[in-house]
Amino acid sequence: MTHPQVDLAELELSELEAALEARAVERFHARQLYRWIYRHGVTDIDRMSDLGRTLRETLKSEFVIGMPCTVGDERSIDGTRKLLLELADGKRIEAVFIPDTPATAPRYTFCISTQVGCAMSCGFCLTGKMGLVRNLTAGEIAGQVRVLAAATGLLDYPFNIVLMGMGEPLHNYDQTMKALRMLHSEHGLAVSPRRVTLSTVGIVPGLERLAREPLMPNLAISLHATTDEQRTALVPPNRKYPLAAILEVCRRFPLKKRSRITFEYVLLDGVNDTPEDARRLVKLLADVKAKVNLIPLNPAPGIPFERPSDERVDRFAQILADRHITVSVRKSRGRDIRAACGQLIVEGGTKKSAAQQMALLMR
Ligand code: SF4
Repeated sequence: MTHPQVDLAELELSELEAALEARAVERFHARQLYRWIYRHGVTDIDRMSDLGRTLRETLKSEFVIGMPCTVGDERSIDGTRKLLLELADGKRIEAVFIPDTPATAPRYTFCISTQVGCAMSCGFCLTGKMGLVRNLTAGEIAGQVRVLAAATGLLDYPFNIVLMGMGEPLHNYDQTMKALRMLHSEHGLAVSPRRVTLSTVGIVPGLERLAREPLMPNLAISLHATTDEQRTALVPPNRKYPLAAILEVCRRFPLKKRSRITFEYVLLDGVNDTPEDARRLVKLLADVKAKVNLIPLNPAPGIPFERPSDERVDRFAQILADRHITVSVRKSRGRDIRAACGQLIVEGGTKKSAAQQMALLMR
């Protein structure tokens, strides 16, 4: 009787060892396979030259090695690259490479997706307009990193990963954490959790689980508003997990020494960018180990908000800085290829005034 081939790219190292053992293959070959798949970016078993021919034949009859297929590759003038990736079932996701070249060493960041679409429906996000199509598997999540590392020549170079692409990572908790364990393996890419940032709207039970993870990534909370009424309008899951509940978990979150939770705040012109908003934000974060990342909106067709002026952004940032909150304003990357935050997939629609926007959202 024939049985379906197992996808090695979906297995953690311990699962791979068990799968080999079940087929009477020595467990240590799992480490060799991990090296080929993750460190060398090889998916063709015939190219794994340190495995004997008989073993390669056995492996080929039992296993496949899945990899998202690159069907689009857009390059921004600032070096950002947006890859359109097709999965085995034909669904498509986007993964973004963001280079940064400060005066010291260059830094590289991969922004990856955890779901096809997203169920969270944030009012300023194009992905949210798609709704949730399906969760990604651990192999598909880790696979984006394999594709990006190979495409950018960074298989041997340290890079950061941000789980800020399509989807809400805590809404696909198990597969996301499994992918991080696969990427962490010292026999593969050995990505340290310190180089990974998980961004969430604040799914409280997920945050509580995350607080107990042995391999804990950095945490970023997408806050975006300072009152429950305003936040529920912008980030609908706030209805179930309001500001007080999220901040309470954040206060108890077991942070490493000197690390802080990043609070992301998309600035929408005339909506959440007033001095009163800034002062309320200061109060909310008073006893949280926090830093704030301000993200002036990247306007897009179909998103009913505008980007605030630089003066409004500066005034907001200054109020936080004056109260000793570490604040940064995110540079917008890859705007010419729609690779910036909240711009992945789906376009269409018309812009509206700020008053119309809130009226629409508050309905
Ligand atoms: S901002 Fe993030 S959580 Fe909100 S809809 Fe977009 S992808 Fe989902």
